[in-house]
Amino acid sequence: MKMDIKTTKKLNNGVEIPYLGFGVFQVKDGEDTVKSVKWALEAGYRHIDTATAYRNEGSVGQAIQESGINRKDIFITTKLPIDAMKKSTQMETFETSLKLLQTDYIDLYLIHWPHTGKNRESWKILEEIYKSGRARAIGVSNFMEKNIDALLADAKIVPTVDQIELHPHYSQHAVAAHCAKHGIACEAWSPLGGTGGKLLDDPVLNNIAKKYGKSAAQVTLRWELQNGIITIPKSTHQERIKANANLYDFELTLAEMKAINDLDANPQPLGMGWNPYTIEY
Ligand code: NDP
Repeated sequence: MKMDIKTTKKLNNGVEIPYLGFGVFQVKDGEDTVKSVKWALEAGYRHIDTATAYRNEGSVGQAIQESGINRKDIFITTKLPIDAMKKSTQMETFETSLKLLQTDYIDLYLIHWPHTGKNRESWKILEEIYKSGRARAIGVSNFMEKNIDALLADAKIVPTVDQIELHPHYSQHAVAAHCAKHGIACEAWSPLGGTGGKLLDDPVLNNIAKKYGKSAAQVTLRWELQNGIITIPKSTHQERIKANANLYDFELTLAEMKAINDLDANPQPLGMGWNPYTIEY
């Protein structure tokens, strides 16, 4: 699979999203976020994933400004929090994100988590935002098959993306196939198994990594890319940020892809301790 850091996936509305992004969940607002995002941009990432709930959109906006890179060359994702759905303050919350990120449009705006009884109303507001041109694409996150079906039953616009927990110990083959069936791109959160996770100790990943002179993290991210999954690893260390983008000088064989696909025979519990399958539409 020939790719580089600029390789993009075409979403169902024609917008191109870079396959590799940089996540900033749990990165402290202020210097930590500004530094990490600048390192990511220096390393060539052109896709940043934040959220209102991460409370660091202001620092992401500052880093982008200070990088001197054209706004249009950076793909920004942010997300509508449950709190705004509960209080029906979706539009104001979106506008606050625009201000904090110092931009007049978001590339991809997502419903962060489904919230029972509030999804329909929220999706209508995202559709309104999309039609106004202030989001180039809209989508969902943590929507499992039944919630995707419920949304599609009366949506005017099909989500472009579903961002879900996905890594070799939790491959989510069923949700990924359901997304593909509906033309929804699948994006992996906690692609390295998350903060405090054990994924990167996996012997299968480490044996494959040794063969290529790579790390278990690089093999994991390469597996996601070769599966056609958008991936958004997070790090606050410059060397790791660079290494996590150095994925394009090796290619996993079909046998290695299968060996990694098979690692979720015993899925780990969800990292967030919150199972989206229990949330009704
Ligand atoms: P990741 O799977 O990206 O893992 C991050 C952890 O891995 C950190 O502890 C990091 O440590 C470590 N790490 C990063 N690179 C390496 C490396 N090369 N070798 C060893 N360890 C490494 O977890 P996240 O949960 O942060 O997920 C990624 C992004 O997904 C988030 O930042 C966020 O943008 C998004 N997300 C979305 C959710 C949603 O509900 N939609 C939920 C959770 C995440 P260190 O920083 O110290 O380098």
